[in-house]
Amino acid sequence: MKKLVSLVAPFYNEAGNVREFLRRVDLVAAGLPGYDFEVIAVNDGSRDQTWQELTAAQAQYPMLHTVDLSRNFGKEAALTAGLDRARGDAVVPIDSDLQHPPELIGDMLALWEGGAEVVLARRNDRLTDGRLQKLSANWFYRFHNKIANIDVPQDVGDFRLMDKAVVAALRQLPESHRFMKGLFAWVGFRTATVNYAVAARTAGESSFNFWKLWNFALEGITSFSTVPLKIWTYVGLGVSSLALLYAASIVIKTLIYGVDVPGYASLMVASMFMGGIQLIGIGVLGEYVGRIYNEVKRRPVYVVREEHAREAA
Ligand code: UDP
Ligand code: MG
Repeated sequence: MKKLVSLVAPFYNEAGNVREFLRRVDLVAAGLPGYDFEVIAVNDGSRDQTWQELTAAQAQYPMLHTVDLSRNFGKEAALTAGLDRARGDAVVPIDSDLQHPPELIGDMLALWEGGAEVVLARRNDRLTDGRLQKLSANWFYRFHNKIANIDVPQDVGDFRLMDKAVVAALRQLPESHRFMKGLFAWVGFRTATVNYAVAARTAGESSFNFWKLWNFALEGITSFSTVPLKIWTYVGLGVSSLALLYAASIVIKTLIYGVDVPGYASLMVASMFMGGIQLIGIGVLGEYVGRIYNEVKRRPVYVVREEHAREAA
């Protein structure tokens, strides 16, 4: 019995990449005859011909299992849908725009056979990212790992190989807010790393803009840390201690120099500063309460419209 390797690829408006992706993956599979391969392609509500391309390719590539989500649920949900269906002994989430070279899978499998339960693919460089993007990613990981109770490794994306035990653990996590990088780190397991250089997209364009990335970062932090909630106790303590000192200084000043009427500017500054601090505190509360609200609704992470399993091998 050969071991089965499942690739999980989310597709969002990737019609131009379907053929090339499958061709490259098929080449890699042919180069590793000791393994069986399945490719779980999840169409995440694309508005182009991605789904048509995928189902058409199924005649040529029997390893293909296609899943069509009923709308765009986002990459994390699409990955979850794929992971739920992966039956492989090893499972590899991989971007369908070929920024993650499938050729790396051979090296990953070797490390897995050597006893690693998770093999991370680490980007050597972020050549395809802009300077600002690099810098903000850097800051995000530093900040996140400082305040969260897990360590998300830097320069590591969703591209990795996981043993089926790891995937089983992931499936047990019930949350509907799925910050995959955090969940991957949370489950733990013995980890090894391989390096690769990120390629440029073969076709189409990235669907992550600044606003999406900002929300993604918020998701990461609120999913794995309650520090932003708790910090307000200390901010409050600090500000009121300062206020107390200030009050004492006013009393002393009044005793020495008598009553001093002008004070409009300092009052204004103090009340605006406090108002701002309180609004920020309420906003942070809102971020968490909103997530609790979404979580208690227990909605499924994704909805499937149509699915074609691969031909039984
Ligand atoms: N993707 C998805 N749903 C989305 C956005 C993206 O399934 O709502 C997929 C996309 O098809 C690609 C991967 O997630 O395979 C990474 O997306 P993208 O290339 O846009 O992100 P970047 O590589 O720029 O981080
Ligand atoms: Mg990409």
